[in-house]
Amino acid sequence: MSIQVYTFDCDGTIINSGEDIADCVNSALKRFGYWEVATSELISFTGDGAKNLVLRALARSTKNRFNLESDYNKSQFEQVYKYYLELYHKNPVVKTHLYAGIKELLRVLKAKDKKVVLFTNKPESIAARIFEKLGILEYFDLMVGPETRTADGNAINLKPSTDGLEFALSELNKRFNANWTKDNFIMIGDSDVDIIAGKNFGCKTVGLRGGIANKEKMLAQNPDLCFSVASEIEKFIDMLSDDKCDDFIKNYAMQNEVPIMQDEGSDFICDYIKSHGVKSVLEIGTAIGYSAIRFAGLSNDIRVTTIELDDERYNAAVKNVSEKGLSERITLIHGDALTAEIDGKFDLIFIDAAKAQYTKFFEKYKSNLSENGVIISDNLSFHGMVEDLSLTHNYSTKKLVKKIRKYIDFLKTNEEFETEFFKKGDGISVSRKK
Ligand code: SAM
Repeated sequence: MSIQVYTFDCDGTIINSGEDIADCVNSALKRFGYWEVATSELISFTGDGAKNLVLRALARSTKNRFNLESDYNKSQFEQVYKYYLELYHKNPVVKTHLYAGIKELLRVLKAKDKKVVLFTNKPESIAARIFEKLGILEYFDLMVGPETRTADGNAINLKPSTDGLEFALSELNKRFNANWTKDNFIMIGDSDVDIIAGKNFGCKTVGLRGGIANKEKMLAQNPDLCFSVASEIEKFIDMLSDDKCDDFIKNYAMQNEVPIMQDEGSDFICDYIKSHGVKSVLEIGTAIGYSAIRFAGLSNDIRVTTIELDDERYNAAVKNVSEKGLSERITLIHGDALTAEIDGKFDLIFIDAAKAQYTKFFEKYKSNLSENGVIISDNLSFHGMVEDLSLTHNYSTKKLVKKIRKYIDFLKTNEEFETEFFKKGDGISVSRKK
């Protein structure tokens, strides 16, 4: 497998551009005397090029009475289409924003020397202008789209054609003097045409449920992996790079969208355990036992107690822990950590469950700390949104981010504990008694 080239779709994958596109289409419709169409409907018409978008918009606006059979309609279409393109070229970044975690994902991909390609049905010159404004243009090794020409001067066919992927493969091999094949590629996108293009090309595909295209149509193409947003792939970059990755737990987590800790954060805690001689760990939020197994695997005298609320994840954790032969040293508790009764003292308490409840977990379990024990909390950056709330426009995500900020304030102003913050993984804190 060894994925070296990450190929991204643009709208609905890297940027949430739906509203800007819809606003420009509606202005164009209005300019030529057509009824406006609901923003959500216009957004669902995107994915396979601006021409199809405008055609669908005209059909919807005229209650399906618009087609390209008459010369009059053809010229009307050309006018609306031209006006839309001009308008959108002038105003591509009014409400458009990056999806959460995209900048961090691109940074990590570059740090790991992966190649990053944009394969879009949007004119790549507009995509480049948007990316420049949003500060991510520098991360792209290649941008392929309707303006791209092959060495013979031929245009690239739009997705679902595989033209763009074939072009990227030969271009990158030339530029980087490499011998990559389709097996080294992964295609990531939110629409059915992304998945069809990737599958026909023969590479791995990732479908995104939280984009702007029609989710059901995308899922019907059976992508190899499915996440809500592209940045979730970050945890699995190392695994996807490894030719013969046999880590069953990580594979299961990736296929089933179980949120396990990022490698960088998990390595940080493992180093802490080793360097501070930690012997007992209490973990709030087991998921399927990935971190607990890593911690207990560090040394035969380490014991882990871990709590999980979800039935399916708890059962998967029991199975994974038993298969690793660690049932003796990992105690799995099935229940709500907010009400569980845990006796004993622990050298390290790791909070990695519902983010909105972090303060409650901290207050409840601080009495379980041993003399020099620490409380470690994960996800304090929450894909960069804690530092930059404009990365999300989703109301409930904003609320959650505000709760994490409150937790950070709680740690910073805590009279009993002092806390150090580390930019590792998704943001980690280490709190110890003053
Ligand atoms: N620590 C795990 C690892 O790295 O392998 C990942 C944990 S995952 C981020 C968070 C888990 O916390 C989820 O599986 C969720 O079901 C669980 N959770 C959420 N609220 C909880 C609660 N109140 N009590 C116990 N578990 C909870």
